[in-house]
Amino acid sequence: MSKIIASAAIRAAHEIVNRAEEMLDKTIAEKGKDYVFEFPDTAYYLPMIYGMTGFAVKTLADMKVALGMAREMLHPVPDEKLWKPYLGEALDSGMATLFAEEIILALRYIQGLEPAVDPETGYVYNGFITDTIQRNLGIQLVDGRMPGFAAIIGAAPDDDTAVKIVRELQEKNILIFLSGHVNGNSVTKQLLRKKVELGWDTYIVPLGPDTEHTLYALDWSIRAPLIFGGDKPGDYKRLLKYTKDRVFAFALVLGELDDLKWSTGAGAINMGYPAICDTDVPVIHPTGVCTYEEVDKELDHDKIVQKAIEVRGLKVTVEKPPIPVSYGPAFEGERIRKDDMYIEFGGQRSPAFEWVRMKELHEVEDGKVTIVGTDVEERFKKGGVMPLGIVVDVAGRKMQKDFEAIIERKLHHNINEAQGLWHMGQRDIIWMRISKQAFKDGITLEHFGVIHNVMTHNRFKSIVDKVQVTIYVDEEDVLRIQEEARQAYRERDARLAGMTDESVDTFYSCLLCQSFAPSHVCVISPERLGLCGAYNWLDTKAAYEIDPTGGNQPILKGEVLDPVKGRWTGVDEYLKMNSGGKVETLNLYTIMDNPMTSCGCFECIVAIIPEANGVMIVNRGYTGMTPIGMKFSTLAGTVGGGTQNPGFMGIGVNFITSRKFLYADGGIRRIVWMTKSLKERVAEAFKKRAEEEGVPDLFEKIADETIAEDSEKLLEFLTSVGHPALEMDPMF
Ligand code: SF4
Ligand code: ZN
Repeated sequence: MSKIIASAAIRAAHEIVNRAEEMLDKTIAEKGKDYVFEFPDTAYYLPMIYGMTGFAVKTLADMKVALGMAREMLHPVPDEKLWKPYLGEALDSGMATLFAEEIILALRYIQGLEPAVDPETGYVYNGFITDTIQRNLGIQLVDGRMPGFAAIIGAAPDDDTAVKIVRELQEKNILIFLSGHVNGNSVTKQLLRKKVELGWDTYIVPLGPDTEHTLYALDWSIRAPLIFGGDKPGDYKRLLKYTKDRVFAFALVLGELDDLKWSTGAGAINMGYPAICDTDVPVIHPTGVCTYEEVDKELDHDKIVQKAIEVRGLKVTVEKPPIPVSYGPAFEGERIRKDDMYIEFGGQRSPAFEWVRMKELHEVEDGKVTIVGTDVEERFKKGGVMPLGIVVDVAGRKMQKDFEAIIERKLHHNINEAQGLWHMGQRDIIWMRISKQAFKDGITLEHFGVIHNVMTHNRFKSIVDKVQVTIYVDEEDVLRIQEEARQAYRERDARLAGMTDESVDTFYSCLLCQSFAPSHVCVISPERLGLCGAYNWLDTKAAYEIDPTGGNQPILKGEVLDPVKGRWTGVDEYLKMNSGGKVETLNLYTIMDNPMTSCGCFECIVAIIPEANGVMIVNRGYTGMTPIGMKFSTLAGTVGGGTQNPGFMGIGVNFITSRKFLYADGGIRRIVWMTKSLKERVAEAFKKRAEEEGVPDLFEKIADETIAEDSEKLLEFLTSVGHPALEMDPMF
């Protein structure tokens, strides 16, 4: 058996390179060799070819060149030979296969055949994975929420087994890519038949029906070192080391393997991704590429996920509450439609709120859940609508009043991660639903309390010693206690608004992204949040209390070196030590002179527009053109990777309305262009800030893409409205 693998992989590589060539010649005959192609929303051309060779494929003629490179990697097909002596040949051929697959998929895009559509159900596959999605996933990767990725290729022996394997991966927060088929059947089809919700929100991403579509997953992971790691295209050794060391992917190959699956697998082994098969394949022991089995088998479908986790060495820590439904972030994205809903709370239909309240240790009985109300059981059994007030009392020796808001923000996730429970909003604008299925499975009101108890302990181990939950369901109680809660929300907001960088002597670092961007450090101050938007100063302060050796460390400000640009001795020292020497000094309040570095998961990019004497801000997800002639994806490519780039900077959305936003450069007056969606998002806070700055009409003077997509039009507009940036000192 093992004799045929190397020859199978090499044979398939020859075939697919020939197939790509045929398709390419046909397309060139139709469209001409100068026809330009790019995958949707990426700055990395054909990412596999670009990453491995540094060659940017932009036209059909370029594809011809790239295919020539693939051909050079081909070796003669050995005749029934063992794997090991032919390892190098097989791996080279595997890479040639990936190049050919990438070109075939590009050509399919040109022909309008991608993303593929399932002819039976009309289901549209995901197709190519965009840079935007990749950056969105960035934070989940680094903070350990997502321990790894599974590419499932083929079909399970039956529909139920497919569901079982996928559910097990979901519960472990492993992102799942689906591709390939066995005699026309596939896991995607199996899940569709079982009405399993598919998509990014549920961690199940069907890429396409064929083996070739597996390449989209590999294309995605080869961009990680380019986006986050600061590695250069063409430096293939570093790229492959990065994917092996930092991207925890593996393949589950279900059903028989054909030559192309072996060859694609050989390509993936280059990247450090092993394959676990449910058929009697020969096991391929470590050969030097990996320190673990490259191909392994597990015939028992109850054990195959566990086996894969062991082989690839994933760290999976799942803590779930004792409830009768599945639990984990993969269930957060589920929607509960009206027809599937059993009962709901809040959402304008009934009064509802949730509130975390700090108490003294002796005031809290740990683990207790109390439900206060009349005829609770009967009313719950009837379904429909119910008022709901949830009060979570926490106590702990290291608990602080400031942490209430942070614990409260997690209540949303606590509930949403349960399968069949749905939660939206926060504070007194929450909306919750329980699905009919979850009710059938035995979910009760008490489980809300159980979930909050267990998960608050899990998430906040070292600051929370005791948790108790009280649930109110009578309208008058809910309304009465809601008033108390509102008072507490107001006090919190006032305290937060009063906090400035000057009022504290300690900032915090966030080093989470170093697992992907080794030289990047976010410096987080009360007035500047992390560039991913997920961590503010209070969050990092709490995170440090929770885990003193974790990714958030205190930075003593030390002596102030420049109060206008925002430079301190303590920050500089910290950065020198923790950026691997890459950053010597930092100014927190300017974009022009040693600005903050970016990893890759910024919410927005600020960039100067010299002609306008100001800056523009573009958010992730905006795919149109900007006045400096670059799309977000292109800009992101130059900003990321942990280097300082004067004139360009990644930021979190909320920084825009901070008093310290480009403070040394003239503040918000410098903003001349923002995307429409970003304007809408910050409108309220921005107008307040503008008033405070003495430019109450600034918001209306800022252009967006409906007004200008190039600098000429932009200047016309700015002049016509008299934008203040035109009158300010030159930026440099
Ligand atoms: Fe990464 Fe900065 Fe966000 Fe931390 S705050 S997760 S380092 S982007
Ligand atoms: Zn990051």
